[in-house]
Amino acid sequence: MNTAEETQPLIESKGLTKHFQLGRNQIVHALDGVSLSIAPREIVGLVGESGSGKSTYGKTLIGLHDKTAGQVIFDGETLPQKYHPRDFQRHAKRMQMIFQDPYSSLNPRMTVGEIIGEGLRLHSSDSSAKIRDRVGDWLERVGLNGDHMARYPHEFSGGQRQRIGIARALIMNPLFVVADEAVSALDVSVQAQVINLLSDLQVEFGLTYLFIAHDLSVVRHICDRVAVMYAGRIVELAP
Ligand code: ADP
Ligand code: MG
Repeated sequence: MNTAEETQPLIESKGLTKHFQLGRNQIVHALDGVSLSIAPREIVGLVGESGSGKSTYGKTLIGLHDKTAGQVIFDGETLPQKYHPRDFQRHAKRMQMIFQDPYSSLNPRMTVGEIIGEGLRLHSSDSSAKIRDRVGDWLERVGLNGDHMARYPHEFSGGQRQRIGIARALIMNPLFVVADEAVSALDVSVQAQVINLLSDLQVEFGLTYLFIAHDLSVVRHICDRVAVMYAGRIVELAP
């Protein structure tokens, strides 16, 4: 395995800070100067109590939040402080997020095929026939099948929905994936299956993960390093 010392990081944050302005006088310091480097193909775990800033870090890292201060350097390139539509267009293919809640993160009015293919429709010039083929491939790759394309999210179990969320992210062929409590809402036996799937896909596609977890027991064995977050800062970083 590569370590951050030996190679250029795939992604690196320097003093990354995110404040949310709530009222005129109220500012939430969700993220306070977080510096972290993640090497290519590395899996870094990020744990910490609820409200410590884990999701904010993941989202700010991949540009879903504007940065209050600090920098993100991806593959040697400093990313913009605030994304414009063309930045999403460029970066959406390289960085993806898998969200926690498979019940609320999938649009109930869209078919599974539309959900998984949406990123390609927005961010690629592929024909609809080609997108359909790729959606079918990805359904099988995540352990579902091509016939599921015409169905709706409510027809699936929690574990299956999380597989749909994984296909939606990975069909974009990203280099870096933030999995934000991707298995936290699932039963223990299903958690293990979904983690094994994520782990297999990481090897197959050479992915780099930031694996956010409330409880590290589930993901400890797949992480190369673990960072512990407290009140918007990384307070510990250990192999
Ligand atoms: P975690 O994922 O570790 O549970 P979050 O990153 O979701 O923590 O939240 C960190 C802090 O930032 C919390 O105090 C939360 O209330 C606040 N926060 C997160 N997102 C927003 C937002 N969009 N607007 C205002 N405050 C937010
Ligand atoms: Mg969170």
